[in-house]
Amino acid sequence: MNYVEAVVVGAGQAGLSSAYHLRRSGFEPGRDFVVLDHSPHPGGAWQFRWPTLTYGRVHGMHALPGMELTGADPDRPSSEVIGGYFADYERAFDLRVRRPVDVREVREGSAGRLAVDTSAGVWETRAVINATGTWDRPFWPRFPGQDGFRGRQLHTAQYPGPDADAFRGKHVVVVGGGTSAVQHLLEVSRHAAATTWVTRRPPAFREGPFDEEQGRAAVSLVEDRVRVGLPPRSVVSVTGLPMTEEMRRARERGVLERHPMFTRILPDGVAWADGSTVRADTILWATGFRPVIDHLAPLRLREPGGGIRLEGTRAVRDPRVHLVGYGPSASTIGANRAGRSAVRDIRALLASTDRREPVPV
Ligand SMILES: Cc1cc2nc3c(=O)[nH]c(=O)nc-3n(C[C@H](O)[C@H](O)[C@H](O)COP(=O)(O)OP(=O)(O)OC[C@H]3O[C@@H](n4cnc5c(N)ncnc54)[C@H](O)[C@@H]3O)c2cc1C
Repeated sequence: MNYVEAVVVGAGQAGLSSAYHLRRSGFEPGRDFVVLDHSPHPGGAWQFRWPTLTYGRVHGMHALPGMELTGADPDRPSSEVIGGYFADYERAFDLRVRRPVDVREVREGSAGRLAVDTSAGVWETRAVINATGTWDRPFWPRFPGQDGFRGRQLHTAQYPGPDADAFRGKHVVVVGGGTSAVQHLLEVSRHAAATTWVTRRPPAFREGPFDEEQGRAAVSLVEDRVRVGLPPRSVVSVTGLPMTEEMRRARERGVLERHPMFTRILPDGVAWADGSTVRADTILWATGFRPVIDHLAPLRLREPGGGIRLEGTRAVRDPRVHLVGYGPSASTIGANRAGRSAVRDIRALLASTDRREPVPV
């Protein structure tokens, strides 16, 4: 059994920001806190993003606190640039991330502590910062006929880049109204025989830059949901799609012509309620992700609405648990701020409760 003051689960933007603030508050890595991550390398979810998502195509990536990301080549894959930057960051602040360590369950421990069950043993802790992101839980909608589809179905989480067998010369249906769907369409349409874009709601394109006030308004919409215990929507889903020059050109090529959702999947295509059909060799689901929180289930944090109710980053049902990078803080800038605020809150919690020395068992 290992005893610490705080366990940070996940070493993406949210986890590293939290670890940085713990360190700055005088917590010693290894002794007072530990960061656990089940991915093989530094970079959080960025390490898994497709090679054509170059650093120059990433919008609004904020550096981690205390160390700028400078001089990055915009043509290099963001997975390499950000993976390298995170590795340097972990070294610079001596954060000693333990990987690959899979957190399987967080449950009640002994003497008022939480027990964190992992592939590398159990940590008992007075606080948990959950920073597990969403990448590991891609959301696949279900449609009648889906199991009988003879082509290939892929999710953004498995997107191999546009020049793959799944797309070259194929009829590709792209599902989803977010940035990933649009980026997939722009790329895949250059290699596919034909693309069809379907979304639930008409996409909201946004002209001009996104100012700070609009950003705050978008975040507060997500915050409102989390405050009442509803599952969060992504911040991007409420900010709209920024119209770029590349998108304007794609629109002229007819690539961004949007269709409503189909109602059925056929063995070789998709069909709408009015009987119209489109051929599909590949369906690419750019339908988003859900928070990775199943390992917190024993703590019963979920509300009847399905989400975890938060006050700031603190779980209302258990003040020892903070969620960073969840809901309103699910952006690089949000994760930075949330990490700082979670640590401030945890310091106050630890100061206000007796530090009971662990009793070895
Ligand atoms: C394609 C794409 C592009 C994006 N582009 C931008 C952008 O340009 N700007 C922006 O601000 N935001 C962007 N976002 C959102 C952004 O990625 C996130 O807000 C932020 O990077 C997520 O950081 P995170 O630390 O919350 O999660 P992640 O980066 O997903 O890190 C979570 C970590 O937790 C680990 N983990 C998960 N479960 C466990 C477990 N049970 N045990 C141990 N470890 C676990 C994972 O291995 C991972 O390393 C993008 C998202 C996507 C999908």
